[in-house]
Amino acid sequence: MALTERALIERYFRECGARRSDVPLGVGDDASLIDVPPGMQLVAALDTLVSGVHFLPHSPASSVGHRALAVNLSDIAAMGAQPAWALLGLTLPGVDETWLEAFTSGLGALARKHNVALVGGDTTSGPLCITVQVLGYAPKPPAMLRSGGLPGDVLFVTGTPGDAAAGLALEKGELSGLTEDAAAWLRGRFLYPTPRIELGIKLREYASACIDVSDGLLGDAGKLAEASRCGVVIDFEHVPVSSHLVSAVGDARARELALTGGDDYELCFAVRPEKVDRLTRELPPGQWNYRRIGVLRSEPGSVVLRGGTVMDVSHSGFDHFAR
Ligand code: ADP
Ligand code: MG
Repeated sequence: MALTERALIERYFRECGARRSDVPLGVGDDASLIDVPPGMQLVAALDTLVSGVHFLPHSPASSVGHRALAVNLSDIAAMGAQPAWALLGLTLPGVDETWLEAFTSGLGALARKHNVALVGGDTTSGPLCITVQVLGYAPKPPAMLRSGGLPGDVLFVTGTPGDAAAGLALEKGELSGLTEDAAAWLRGRFLYPTPRIELGIKLREYASACIDVSDGLLGDAGKLAEASRCGVVIDFEHVPVSSHLVSAVGDARARELALTGGDDYELCFAVRPEKVDRLTRELPPGQWNYRRIGVLRSEPGSVVLRGGTVMDVSHSGFDHFAR
C-alpha cells in the first residue's frame, strides 16, 4: 500500500539529517525556526538535480541523495561558510520505498557527517527532480568571494579534478578497459563527491578569492579571474591528476580532463604571494590535498602553458575518450 504523503515525510525526512540545538522547530510545522548564531551572516545556496539531465536515471539512489546535498555543500565551502541547515524539495514519479530508503541514507549520511539538519522541504508528484537548499553561516564581512583576487595571486586547486568526468563516462559506458581499482575510484568520485567544507573554512584566513569547481577547472578558474578583473595562467604540468585517471586515459588526456571535465566539486582559490608561505606551512598541501596550478595576471583571459608554450584549450578541442 502506498504511503500517505504525511507518513512518507515522517518516515524518511524527520530524522534524516543531524540534530541541532539551534533548530527549535524542524520538519512537521508550516515552516521551521532556526536560531542563527549572533554576529554571523546567513549564507544560502540552492541547486536542482533533474533526472536524465544532472544524473543518470539508473544512478544509485544513495548517490543521488549524496550529490543533491554535496553540490550545495560545495558552494557553501567556496564561501568559507559553515553549513548547518538544509531544505529538500523532492518531486517523485511515485512512492518507491527502496529508492527512498537509499536516497535518504545517502543524503542523511552526508548531512550528519557535516552536522547539517534537514529542517523542511516539500514533496510533490511528477518527474524525478531534487532541489536542495543549504543554509550556513559565516562571520561578517565575507572573507572569500570570487571577486577578491588580484594580479600576482597564486592559484590553487584541491583534490584531483577530472576523475568525476571519467567516472561519469564509465557510468555511461563510454570508457572501458580499466582496472577494477581505477574504475571503482573514478566511479566513486563521480557518484560521491567530497565537498571541501573544512578547508573552505580554514581558507578564510588565507585566500583572496575562491570558487567551487563544478563545470570544469579551466572555465571555473576563468570565472574567478573574471570576477576579480584578472586573467589566469595555468601550468598544464602542475594540474593535479589521480594515478587512477592516468592509468585510465594516459597522462596528457588526464590533465585535459582535469581542466575541462565537470562534476568535481573541488575548490579553486587564489592567495596573495606574501601569504603563500604561511598557507603551505600551516595547511600542508599533502595533508589538505591541494596544489598550486597557476597565477592570476592583469591581462584578461585564460591561458594554459605547457613547457612554456600556450596550449589551445577550447573545450571543443578535446575529444576526451577517443582512443
Ligand atoms: P504544507 O502543505 O504546509 O507546505 P507539507 O505537507 O508540504 O506542509 O509539509 C509538512 C512538513 O513536512 C513541513 O514541515 C515540511 O517542511 C516538511 N517536508 C515536506 N516534504 C519534505 C521533504 N521532502 N524533506 C523534508 N521535509 C519535508
Ligand atoms: Mg508543502
